[in-house]
Amino acid sequence: MFFWLLVIFIIGTAVGSFLNVVIDRTIRRETILGRSYCDHCKATLSSIDLIPVVSFVGLGARCRYCRRPISWQYPAVEAVTGGLFVLSFYALSVNNPFEITKFLLYLFLVSVLVVVATVDVKFSLIPTSLVFLASFVSLFYNYFFLRSDLFVEHVFAAFGAGIFFLAIVLLTRGRGMGEGDVILGFLIGMVLGFLEMILAVFLAFSLGAIVAIMLLFLGKKRFGQTIPFGPFLVCGFLLSLFWGRELIALYLSIL
Ligand SMILES: [Zn+2]
Repeated sequence: MFFWLLVIFIIGTAVGSFLNVVIDRTIRRETILGRSYCDHCKATLSSIDLIPVVSFVGLGARCRYCRRPISWQYPAVEAVTGGLFVLSFYALSVNNPFEITKFLLYLFLVSVLVVVATVDVKFSLIPTSLVFLASFVSLFYNYFFLRSDLFVEHVFAAFGAGIFFLAIVLLTRGRGMGEGDVILGFLIGMVLGFLEMILAVFLAFSLGAIVAIMLLFLGKKRFGQTIPFGPFLVCGFLLSLFWGRELIALYLSIL
């Protein structure tokens, strides 16, 4: 088991390295093909500079050519993607017969979520076309692999969450939340179904409130300033995806 977890982690960091390219270049509207280069001096990076996480540590967080600092985004995205790949494998292999299609769906979803959260933190916007794509992939997966009553439930959950966030956007006139959050809500409902979608949204608001209060206390934000909500939705989504059943059972046992 440990050997496979390690292999999956390493594959995850390599995918994370690709996701970093997607994050930076989709916003600049560059092609995702072509060699990677330093953000500062534009030097083309050689393969030894591109080993996930290892190169960042080995180079002391600085570019080999111009010695200026490399953003923490790069190793963080690589390590988080590796971790989420391992979690996906672990979550699907304990207590269940292993379903390879579901595993691949999870890998695709966590990759999309890493890009969405990072782009929202960095540029305060959500790459909606990517979230749309993930919603369609999940819709197709549900259609072919879920019982028909569950399929209907997931579609209803998707529209329920989408309409909920749309109402918030309309009521607040787009301050704080945007269309990206509406589509992200739609994806969450499509993947999780009703109960776990509600859990994900609840966790997102709770996390958002905690972090907002902390930022106010630390003086990093003033009252009335907005912080991007996408990363909290992504965190709530992931928590509910991996531990939703356990969290709901825990909640019901307390009642
Ligand atoms: Zn450089």
